[in-house]
Amino acid sequence: MEINIANTLNISRFAGAAFRCDTCGTHNVVTREITVGADASAHIAGFAVQHLGGSGRVLVAAGRRSFDALGSKAVRFLTEAGFTVDTLVVTGRDTALTEITAALKDDTRLVISAGGGAVADYVKLAAHKAGLPVVIMMPTPSSDNYLAPYSYIEREGFWERAEVAPPIAVIADLDVIGAAPTSHHAAAYGLIMSKIIAVFDSYFSNLMRGTPHCERIADLIYASVGSCVEANAGFVRHERKSVGLITENVIRMSLLKQMAPGQIMTQGGAETHFAVFAERYMTENKRGCRMFGEHAFLGAQIVSGLYKLMLKDAGADIFPPPDILARAERFSEVTGLQEHRVLARYAGVPDGELYAVTAYKYREYRAELYQRILRSEKIIAEAVRTFRHIYSDAGYWCRKYLTDGDYRTILALAADTHPEYTLLMHMRNAGYLEQYLP
Ligand SMILES: [Zn+2]
Repeated sequence: MEINIANTLNISRFAGAAFRCDTCGTHNVVTREITVGADASAHIAGFAVQHLGGSGRVLVAAGRRSFDALGSKAVRFLTEAGFTVDTLVVTGRDTALTEITAALKDDTRLVISAGGGAVADYVKLAAHKAGLPVVIMMPTPSSDNYLAPYSYIEREGFWERAEVAPPIAVIADLDVIGAAPTSHHAAAYGLIMSKIIAVFDSYFSNLMRGTPHCERIADLIYASVGSCVEANAGFVRHERKSVGLITENVIRMSLLKQMAPGQIMTQGGAETHFAVFAERYMTENKRGCRMFGEHAFLGAQIVSGLYKLMLKDAGADIFPPPDILARAERFSEVTGLQEHRVLARYAGVPDGELYAVTAYKYREYRAELYQRILRSEKIIAEAVRTFRHIYSDAGYWCRKYLTDGDYRTILALAADTHPEYTLLMHMRNAGYLEQYLP
């Protein structure tokens, strides 16, 4: 179905959609059912009937809390509709993949994830390996990876992306999502707003290194950001329809990962690198915060300020080679990971010729990039006010656990964990990061 997707924010129109674009060719959505609404869980039975033809074995998997809130609903609707339902309460991240794989029987035909972002990623991978389709039921809107064509799997201390088939359907029950803790809603809002930096980095990387960047996908992200900015007052009043709006926008962000999987703006820029490393850092330091959207939003705030300083300074255009060994040593010290493992991650460090080209382009485009970051920073500043209001009930966790010194460490090493070329990595390569750190 070809639709003029640039003109719609209506999430159901994205189901199975495709649109052509001069830059990328075709953008496709594989997910063919998108149901968002109060008590949408009941839809799972209808979908299973339609997909499996009325009977068959189905697995419903989730973590403990999500299973009680959402998974149990799915089990009831599916059992009433005559399906054979196996259930799995996933007990831990380390064992998730093994647990899910073991719960799949020879005649399992459909796998339903009723868990949060981390569990959903393991379900997607286990089902993909078994060649089974996945339906996502969202217990919370705090992840935008539910429908991505990849899962993030922790391996030897790093998050690695494993390609998987995208889920065939998503069901967002607003009764369940509305009852999720406020911190989850705030994290989802932060996740959406932080994409401004991802779009900026995507544009930057395209200018400097010619990586893929689609302005039509960027427009869709800006449309989502814009609709959340417009609803700022509603979020502050905890209006019920704001939960629906956040949920739809998170689903849209997730679908964009299917539509433009290789692009920094859908995978995440420096704000995501910051958030990933913040999680790693907090795990290593035994501090208890796993709210990815909150980290990403905090990352977007810090990074936009940093970018502004860097781009404003006309003198900052000489690029000395980075001291990779020294950085790797510091990285190992902070994370407790082996140095040889860390060194292998240092992608994107340019050779002499690439340095020269990058330095030239940076001088050429600096003024334009500066204007872009000024506009982005304005939107983020507005969003900060709303975020704090939504969050007043939840306490703004990572602020509680991290000191300014921690932020500096996280920022300085965030760029080292991802291969994408961002302005943050550019600053690190240039040896300018420390100079501009807050
Ligand atoms: Zn495109």
